[in-house]
Amino acid sequence: MTDTHCPYCSLQCGMRLTGRRTPQVEEWPEFPVNSGALCRKGWSAAGLYGGRERLTTPLVRDRATGELSPVSWEEALDLVAGRLAALRAERGADSVAVFGGGGLTNEKAYQLGKLARVALGTSQIDYNGRWCMSSAASAGMRAFGLDRGLPFPLADVEQADVVVLVGSNLAETMPPAARHLDALRARGGQVVVIDPRRTPTADRADVFVQPVPGSDLALALGVLHLLVAGGTVDEEYVAARTTGWAEVRESVTGWWPERVERVTGVPADEVRALAELLAGKPRVMVLTARGAEQHSTGSDTVLAWINVALALGMPGTPGAGYGCLTGQGNGQGGREHGQKADQLPGYRMIDDPAARAHVAGVWGVDPDSLPGKGRSAYELLDALGQPDGPSALLVFGSNIVVSAPRATHVTQRLESLDLLVVADMVLSETAALADVVLPVTQWAEETGTMTNLEGRVILRQRAISPPAGVRSDLDVIAGLASRLGSPGVFSTDPEAVFEELGRASAGGKADYAGITYDRIRDEHGVFWPCPEPGHPGTPRMFLDAFAHPDGRARFLAVDHRGPAEVPDADYPVHLTTGRVLAQYQSGAQTRRVRDLPDTGPFVEIHPMLAGRIGAVDGEPVTVATRRGTMTAPAHVVATIRPDTVFVPFHWVGANRLTNDALDPASRMPEFKVCAAAVSA
Ligand code: SF4
Repeated sequence: MTDTHCPYCSLQCGMRLTGRRTPQVEEWPEFPVNSGALCRKGWSAAGLYGGRERLTTPLVRDRATGELSPVSWEEALDLVAGRLAALRAERGADSVAVFGGGGLTNEKAYQLGKLARVALGTSQIDYNGRWCMSSAASAGMRAFGLDRGLPFPLADVEQADVVVLVGSNLAETMPPAARHLDALRARGGQVVVIDPRRTPTADRADVFVQPVPGSDLALALGVLHLLVAGGTVDEEYVAARTTGWAEVRESVTGWWPERVERVTGVPADEVRALAELLAGKPRVMVLTARGAEQHSTGSDTVLAWINVALALGMPGTPGAGYGCLTGQGNGQGGREHGQKADQLPGYRMIDDPAARAHVAGVWGVDPDSLPGKGRSAYELLDALGQPDGPSALLVFGSNIVVSAPRATHVTQRLESLDLLVVADMVLSETAALADVVLPVTQWAEETGTMTNLEGRVILRQRAISPPAGVRSDLDVIAGLASRLGSPGVFSTDPEAVFEELGRASAGGKADYAGITYDRIRDEHGVFWPCPEPGHPGTPRMFLDAFAHPDGRARFLAVDHRGPAEVPDADYPVHLTTGRVLAQYQSGAQTRRVRDLPDTGPFVEIHPMLAGRIGAVDGEPVTVATRRGTMTAPAHVVATIRPDTVFVPFHWVGANRLTNDALDPASRMPEFKVCAAAVSA
């Protein structure tokens, strides 16, 4: 029996696996995050290994015939390293790019960053976590001086008087977490859900607010306006623990409720009621998720809600504050250790000379040899095959063809490459385009750490043997590094890599130096920062000071700009995208699990809109945007706004429609809203 964690979302529920060949999932009641509870995806996770589609040998494409053929590992790695070396010699180091994933373990994310910076010398590395919570990360860094999804354990939700969920469908995306909302309500606390759709999470709420997609920022401005007008700002806290209040106070002067109603569609009385609910409560918690963050105004939207939390005196108060609910399994750790274009391990910035010197010292290279900041995820993909862009791409743990915004365009960019290499366990839609496919181990077949949405570093432990012919990502990285004649050591032992990661992160914001595999096992995870072996870890942050040098949080004035694309005569409705309970992200894993229903995409549409265009429940409708079209059955439901349609993004289609407009601070694409036309 092996204690480990679910292969999917950022809750990283603890589970036990039994059976050496085919694992069986059992509950692990002692693990505190989920206390044995799992969602349907977790219970059926062992089904990942039941399919016949598992890749067990490297594949190389013959470009003349288009066929993928099996080759040995040596042939595949020699071919990839040879082509990469030739491209670098011919076109420079930045002609090679690396794309990682928010589901990779910390060890893999760390080694991938090192492969890019040391072995390949390229600045062109980013990862799909950029599309997950980068807007909250950017806002958290600016407001608090540090970004950790939740700066407190998730169970603290139960201590709040009011929890405000902005753009989170917790009950469907991470059901075991929803029990905290139930416990909070049983105590007499209240839950507010802000979402364009009445989701199962909204059904559990005391207050449901249904704004137009892309208007959460204006709603926050309106709430803050009313807190100021009502004299319910915590002036003592503001004076003692923050800076910038005067400018923010001034900036919300014009956001009276009727103006908020015009922008958001939320009746002025509901805005007033929301502000009244929050005013004077000892413990208010504001939690944002992708619904608020995946916008071209995502960073500012998060800042606007942080301003509300600060004005109420909440961040740094036990049982209260602001937090972001991460999505991907290692969305948090993935960006702390070097996959992100602008960061080195330990959440160090790559343009900081001291950070470069420290990390280069651990890697045994000259700091000047490390490249600078590269392109963000979408910008990197958009540049592929262009005259000034990369000609080769290595993909680890990401199914770009399904998950990238403006996916048809991104697919064309992938097809224009001289070399596309994909490491995956199955022939995902992206692997199916590759010149070289490398079959790698996943989840229960390997050991490694993840950092969950609370900043708790947990350990996934190997429970079963991988099939013959499959290698770990760490083996692939080490194999390429040695063939490229890289300096530095590229261990294939996860624990050795984690120990090196700890040294590389020492002294950084995300300091893992005091965390060991044994501690994680003994303590049910360790919260970073944990700078030395005797340090207890940091479950709650900001209790005494924020992470800015002066210890104060920053109020930052932001204004409503609205989505990059608004409805017009040709595209008269809003399109928004999201998840369903039985599937996870691009579906590369969950669509292959037989016990999970694979319904295919659908278009959620309000009865009024359905009546207007003649759509019938279950019959096909076509959604068109300026970037593409898709056809799927209509789900006619009264739970969505009449001016909005929803499409889940787990299948090819939804992201052919989405907008690639980027947030200026986080470079987050606007997945959550664009203008669309719907026809029956
Ligand atoms: S998908 Fe998320 S909520 Fe469901 S069992 Fe896995 S970690 Fe838990």
